[in-house]
Amino acid sequence: MDLLQLDDFELIRVVEEDHDFHIYTRLSDETTHCQHCGKYGVVGFGRREQVMKDLPRLGKCSAIHVETRRWHCKHCGKTFYEDLPHMDKKHRMTDRLVQWIGEQTVRRTNSSVAEDVGVTEGTIRLVFAEYVLRKYEAMRFVTPRWLGIDEIHLIKPRCVLTNVEKLTVFDILENRNEQTVAERLSRLNNRKSIELVTIDMWRPYRDAAAAVLPDATVVVDKFHVVRMLNAACEAVRKVLRADLTPAVRRGLVNDRFLILKRKHQLNDKEHMMLSSWLEKYPALAMAYEIKEAGYRIYDAKTREDANAAYEEWRASIPQEMKGTFGDFERAWRNWRDEIFAYFDCCATNAYTENLNNLIRTTNRVGRGYSFEALRAKLLLSEGPEKKAAARPVFQKMLSRDLTMETAVHEMRVPTHYEGRFGTLLSKLPEILRDGNFGSGQP
Ligand SMILES: [Zn+2]
Repeated sequence: MDLLQLDDFELIRVVEEDHDFHIYTRLSDETTHCQHCGKYGVVGFGRREQVMKDLPRLGKCSAIHVETRRWHCKHCGKTFYEDLPHMDKKHRMTDRLVQWIGEQTVRRTNSSVAEDVGVTEGTIRLVFAEYVLRKYEAMRFVTPRWLGIDEIHLIKPRCVLTNVEKLTVFDILENRNEQTVAERLSRLNNRKSIELVTIDMWRPYRDAAAAVLPDATVVVDKFHVVRMLNAACEAVRKVLRADLTPAVRRGLVNDRFLILKRKHQLNDKEHMMLSSWLEKYPALAMAYEIKEAGYRIYDAKTREDANAAYEEWRASIPQEMKGTFGDFERAWRNWRDEIFAYFDCCATNAYTENLNNLIRTTNRVGRGYSFEALRAKLLLSEGPEKKAAARPVFQKMLSRDLTMETAVHEMRVPTHYEGRFGTLLSKLPEILRDGNFGSGQP
């Protein structure tokens, strides 16, 4: 019986073959009540063997064969087969196998889990998707007051839904289409509680928000706007580079970061190096100053000041630079309301920095993982921080000589918000790095 470790089943015999175990069983208790009318008094009416897949054993697949009986009810005259306990009827697997597939597939590829269990990859994908959904729904994330709709690159661009104030991600969508986003937003609980929506300049997000969250104010974050200034400087640098000797070109490549840095963040040495480049290349100097001036629009404290600063910036662009900074200008034209809305709400530096970090990290994610696995990994994974925090208080006190008061305080510091708001943005790069994601197939 130990081999089976399932209550309600009696072991009859085990047959071991090259690749499988077949475990023959019957139910320990006979059915006594009718499944239809619930009355006592049923009589046997034939037999049938039912098979359910179970956990792999000793490197082999295993299946539990259950000799089940068909019953006839003396009262209502109906017949039925007895239900099998511990069984997921839809997939004809034990419940514990479903659980195991879920846990394994977060870490491994579908194909390797499929091989262990002895089912198709398609079955694994289906079981896993349901597992993730059940887990995800059990977490009941709080709908944020301030929603972020952004993009991260996980093999391909994905939409991420974030809680801007809590700095968490609470969902990741397979793609960035308006339909996908609108459909997901419409399923948020209590979506009227969303007051602000921060988006990057991706039209489908704006359209989805307008359709599903008509009362919320849509804001384009500073980060998405000013990075166009950097892109413009980069374009100028690349054109210059084409005419340089290889040695000079290398220098300009290495010093690329100086051009992208804000002037006030340069140290003395960097300042000197940059000045020498800018003296040599007037076009770069011009682009650099326009970039810096563009950033300064964001020093404005009100929408009116910002508008004035932007108009001043626009008027100051020499004709020959109009094309270079065309994207930036077009953004202010096409996203005017959303860009200016930024000046009405509070700053989001922490959010931006976290997101920026995340965007850089996730580009290393390997192929070979299903979208569900990536999503589960990021949303359901407890992350390294949680594991550390799970050490008992008592042990912590011993090892670090904490008082009870500080130990209790440490326990209370939320690293993962217990799933209520989602995974901390700052933890996601760590989860991606530690999660076998770097090298594709593990
Ligand atoms: Zn009956």
